[in-house]
Amino acid sequence: MKQGVRRGIPVIISGPSGSGKGTVVADILTRNHQYALSVSATTRAPRPGEVNGKHYYFISREEFAHRIETGDMLEHACYVGNEYGTPRSEVEQRLRDGIHVILEIDVQGAVQIKEKFPEALLIFLMPPDEKTLERRLRGRGTNTEADIARRLKQARRELEYFDRYDYLVINREGSVQSSADTIMRIVESEQCSVRRNTDFAKHYFS
Ligand code: 5GP
Repeated sequence: MKQGVRRGIPVIISGPSGSGKGTVVADILTRNHQYALSVSATTRAPRPGEVNGKHYYFISREEFAHRIETGDMLEHACYVGNEYGTPRSEVEQRLRDGIHVILEIDVQGAVQIKEKFPEALLIFLMPPDEKTLERRLRGRGTNTEADIARRLKQARRELEYFDRYDYLVINREGSVQSSADTIMRIVESEQCSVRRNTDFAKHYFS
């Protein structure tokens, strides 16, 4: 670690697709440069407007398997038939540089990251209710009916992991900025928590 630089916190933000994670995270990133996004690799096809290297690294199944073999993925999971994973290079150096790294990943990945980085902060982002979730999935216009049904089923499964998380943030309609502010406040408070500063008392008096 650089002299005097406080290590960043891995901030995991999970929630079903349609929870608004992408928009909330984008808002944090534009307003606060102490945060960076870990860009995941995936075997899913890009949606219209998605840019390789910005939203995801879009790679083949063969390359994905190769990256797992070579130890390049910090975690990986299958979600609705596609593979998703976090490349090591997106996370480790930035944490050392004092940057909070946001991982927008599913519950299976969150559990794997918590094992590797016990200091990871796990935040669940949810729309206020099921109807809103479904409306958002439909409003996206890029998912087929079958895909929407699969994603709703998956959302139910994801909630089974709820009690492994540290915080819940409800992302209400039109409240992107407020949800982003809440997440940043949570991270700031965590950074001041005594359990994250055990060295402080040890080294305060020489
Ligand atoms: P989508 O296809 O809607 O972009 O993402 C589907 C799900 O995969 C979301 O819950 C998203 O958070 C999750 N996801 C995206 N990247 C990763 C990753 O690197 N690892 C894991 N485990 N899940 C991911």
